[in-house]
Amino acid sequence: MEVRIAYWVENTFSEGPGKRFAVWFQGCSIKCEGCITKELWDFNGGKKMKTSRLLEEIRNSYEKNRIEGVSILGGEPFDQKKPLSDLVSGIKELGLSIIVFTGYIYEELKSKNDSFINNVLNSIDIIVDGPYIKELYTENLYLRGSSNQRIILLSNRYSEADFEKKNSFDLKYKNGKLLIVGFPFRFINNGRK
Ligand code: SF4
Repeated sequence: MEVRIAYWVENTFSEGPGKRFAVWFQGCSIKCEGCITKELWDFNGGKKMKTSRLLEEIRNSYEKNRIEGVSILGGEPFDQKKPLSDLVSGIKELGLSIIVFTGYIYEELKSKNDSFINNVLNSIDIIVDGPYIKELYTENLYLRGSSNQRIILLSNRYSEADFEKKNSFDLKYKNGKLLIVGFPFRFINNGRK
């Protein structure tokens, strides 16, 4: 199965608890006003790759970097629900924790009663949900950009104490590009508010 992705980084401490592989899905139909990753909206952008190949990258990072989990961001991961479901099943088999960031509301996703969405929700440990609402902009909530967004624990792997942290960011140089990973609020938002 193929997934359209923008990019990934092998390891970061800025996208959730511990050292994590992070992958950004390409394409988003939600289109929040004030989104800072508009370049990830286009469903024709990024590149397609097999989920099995992405899993290989994750496995390699585990062997090399001893990552504790994978963070899946976007773009909107649930706009590619079939490959997302395939990917999280594979990550779960590796025994790694999984965080998915979505612009959809958790209860809305559940109420769809869709087998792919349900598999994702039953396989992951954390969902960070809700659209970015620029009027509710905040720099003070870990892993979130607006105060409507929630961190919801879907397994016993983590506790709320694991998410009582401050936001951070890393700079990664990959394939000739400088990527800003994490939550670089003042760095990026200068002039936005
Ligand atoms: S859901 Fe995320 S990627 Fe999509 S528009 Fe909103 S903030 Fe941007």
